[in-house]
Amino acid sequence: MDTFFISFRDPLFGIIVFFLLLFILSFISYWWGRRKSTNESQEIEIFLGKFDTSSSEAGIASQIHENAITNETWFLLAQGFEHQGNFEKSIEIYHALLSKKSDKIVQKEVLLKLGRGYFKAGFLERSRQSFLQVLQNHPRTPQALHHLILIYEHLQQYKDALEAMESLIEIQGSGGCEKLYLEARQLLCDPKASVDEKAAFLIDLYTQHTQLGYLVFEYLFTHRPSLAWKHFDQSLSVRLADILWRVPAENLDFDIIARNGFLRELFSAKGNCELSQSSPVFELDTLITLRTCGNTKATLQFEYVCGECHTISFLPFHRCPNCHAIDSIESIMTLTKERFDDNNSFQ
Ligand SMILES: [Zn+2]
Repeated sequence: MDTFFISFRDPLFGIIVFFLLLFILSFISYWWGRRKSTNESQEIEIFLGKFDTSSSEAGIASQIHENAITNETWFLLAQGFEHQGNFEKSIEIYHALLSKKSDKIVQKEVLLKLGRGYFKAGFLERSRQSFLQVLQNHPRTPQALHHLILIYEHLQQYKDALEAMESLIEIQGSGGCEKLYLEARQLLCDPKASVDEKAAFLIDLYTQHTQLGYLVFEYLFTHRPSLAWKHFDQSLSVRLADILWRVPAENLDFDIIARNGFLRELFSAKGNCELSQSSPVFELDTLITLRTCGNTKATLQFEYVCGECHTISFLPFHRCPNCHAIDSIESIMTLTKERFDDNNSFQ
């Protein structure tokens, strides 16, 4: 009878216990995985339940569920709609793909594309929910964090943007000048901070990091021109041409202007001084010549180009509206007719 029982000290007993533990651990791991997967699919269903479903979306969903077309083909189709500006259609495709039971990697990719689609279409809250859904299951996703920062910046929720920035810096190691930019924007939008506090912060920022030159000097020349001239970085003269062009004559510092070739030409072209007779820049040279002849009907107008992606904008920007690069703005000057004659007075 004793042959059927294994002694406690028998080496076979230890082996049996080892395999028993291995089985229990495998079972728990399998059960946990199943539970997590079920929770994730329930989360996706709850997420999709937050949005209205149109009849055409139901049609696309049935196509996606019944046809054997691959996800990649649907992605290409959705991107085609996005390029045409038909974001409604691309979003419908992403919704339908999410409702299909897919693995976690595909779901993450669809959610990221859906978030970007909502962002481009201007639905910031829906875009935010999409990226937060990604981060719930995949916290180390830089693309989702990057778009969350953009959304919070659009909504002027700089505290949340800086929190997302901290997470991004932890993943990527460095945030470049984006953190400085968000801190500067946060202070500039703070109604409790005085103009002097803002100016002191921006001067300190530029002195320490030599970054965000356009943003710093745009604010200083607008609100504290004397401080702007005191801390003026002459290497930025060409880049800041549009800001300098708009500085009123009474706020100009002719000592600094006289010492800088480009500034002499710029303000001679504007008619504030006669320190240059010509310029290697065609537009400035033409204006100087016209003013020498007594013609004051011409002026400059500015367009803006991103130094990273070369997108042209008619309005100045601190973050490129296309590639989202910071402080990549460069101004392009063009000759134009003076819009307001001396006779156009409201008096
Ligand atoms: Zn750009």
